[in-house]
Parts: sequence; C-alpha cells; structure tokens
Amino acid sequence: MDRADVIIFGGGMIGLALASALDSSGLSAIVVDPADPAPRSETAFDGRTSAVSSSSMRMLRTIGVADHFAESGCPILRIAVADGLEPGGLRFDAEDDEPLGWMHENRHLRTALQARAEAGPNTWLLWKSRVANVDRSEHGVVVALEDGRKLHAPLLVAADGRNSATREAAGIRVAHWRYRHQAIVSVLRHERTDPPLSLASR
Ligand SMILES: Cc1cc2nc3c(=O)[nH]c(=O)nc-3n(C[C@H](O)[C@H](O)[C@H](O)COP(=O)(O)OP(=O)(O)OC[C@H]3O[C@@H](n4cnc5c(N)ncnc54)[C@H](O)[C@@H]3O)c2cc1C
Repeated sequence: MDRADVIIFGGGMIGLALASALDSSGLSAIVVDPADPAPRSETAFDGRTSAVSSSSMRMLRTIGVADHFAESGCPILRIAVADGLEPGGLRFDAEDDEPLGWMHENRHLRTALQARAEAGPNTWLLWKSRVANVDRSEHGVVVALEDGRKLHAPLLVAADGRNSATREAAGIRVAHWRYRHQAIVSVLRHERTDPPLSLASR
C-alpha cells in the first residue's frame, strides 16, 4: 500500500486515534512511526494514567477503541480541586449516571489504540519506518521513506508529538512559556477501595 486518503506521522495516542476515526468513516490512512511499538504496553515504558473525559470516551467507544480495552478503567465520579489546606475549593460531581470521565493506564490505552488500528481494513501501520523526505504540493504530499518506499496522499497530518519536526518544517509556530512551577507525578495504590468519608467530602 503506497496510497491513502491521509498519511499520519506518529503512531502515538493522537495518531492512532485519528487513524481509527478515519477508518470508521471509511477513509484510509498510513501511519508512519520510527518507533518499535513492542515495549509500549509495558508499565516501565509509561507508568502514567490518563484522565479520559466522558466526551473522549464516547469517541473511543464510537470508533471501536473501547472494544479493545483490557479493563474498563476507573470512573471519575467526583473531582475536587483544593488550594493546599485552604477551606473551600471546587467540586464537580457526576450527574445522570454518567461519570465525568474515566481513568485509564496509558499502557492500556496505547495497546487498545494499536489493536483497533491494526484491525482497521483501511489502516496501514508502518512502524520502525523513518521519513527521508516530504514533498508537499498543491495536490498532496509524497513521502519518501529511508527504505526507499514512496507514499502518496492528499493530506499529511503531523501527530509526531509535542516537539513535532513536521510542524516546524511546515513553518507552523507555537508559543512556549514557563509556569515556573514543579510537579510531582506519581502512581498510588489505595489500601481500600473507597476513600474515607472525610477525604471524599473535601
Ligand atoms: C504528566 C502528564 C499527564 C498527562 N495527563 C493527561 C490526562 O490525564 N489526559 C489527557 O488527555 N492527556 C494527558 N496528558 C497529555 C497526553 O499524554 C498527550 O497529549 C499525548 O500523549 C500526546 O500524544 P501524541 O500522540 O500527540 O504524542 P506522543 O505520544 O509523543 O507520540 C508521538 C509519536 O510520534 C512518533 N514520532 C516522533 N517523531 C516522528 C517523526 N519524525 N515521524 C513520524 N513519527 C514520529 C513517536 O515515535 C511517537 O510514537 C498528560 C501528559 C503528561 C506529560
């Protein structure tokens, strides 16, 4: 396969979700990524979790990604925002039986996205493939891979991460600024299934 409706650079969460959404609409996509996907399902690769909003979750269900989840994830029933130990804060509660979102381990999200993309009849995943040249014209794009293959599509999507080289090459500028804050991201295991009432009501 050397021709598709869309060529996507990057088989991360964004690139694979887009490929699956296109496939669900009957559009074809070729995903090019220099990485080896094998280690991505391991905890050591990315031990983080993602908060998937209820609308994103509806999208993942609609495009068939949720069918590949190893587990259903943890529903977000309440979000409490606190400023240190100051009284007050913000609180959001789920309504109408629909959670505010779902917590999913990134490795499960990545595995499900990849399984869905692999199952797509209109999707081709080219892992461990490096781009040698991109030739953009009025009528589309021709991508030359380092192994000599040439790919054609009317549209190229850059989903190659926050430091996207494709975005830079296209001259698309981004604004950066520093928050001058530091954050600690960690994974905690609860002793109990439900939080104590005093913590839950904060
Ligand atoms: C601490 C932290 C917590 C977060 N929590 C949340 C959360 O709770 N909920 C949420 O929605 N989001 C969260 N995010 C954001 C979310 O993780 C990112 O937005 C998302 O992972 C970005 O995915 P991506 O596919 O754009 O990029 P990446 O995951 O970086 O994937 C980019 C892909 O492009 C490939 N690539 C690189 N260069 C090239 C190239 N030249 N050609 C082709 N392919 C290339 C890479 O190999 C990689 O596979 C969090 C982020 C952080 C840092």
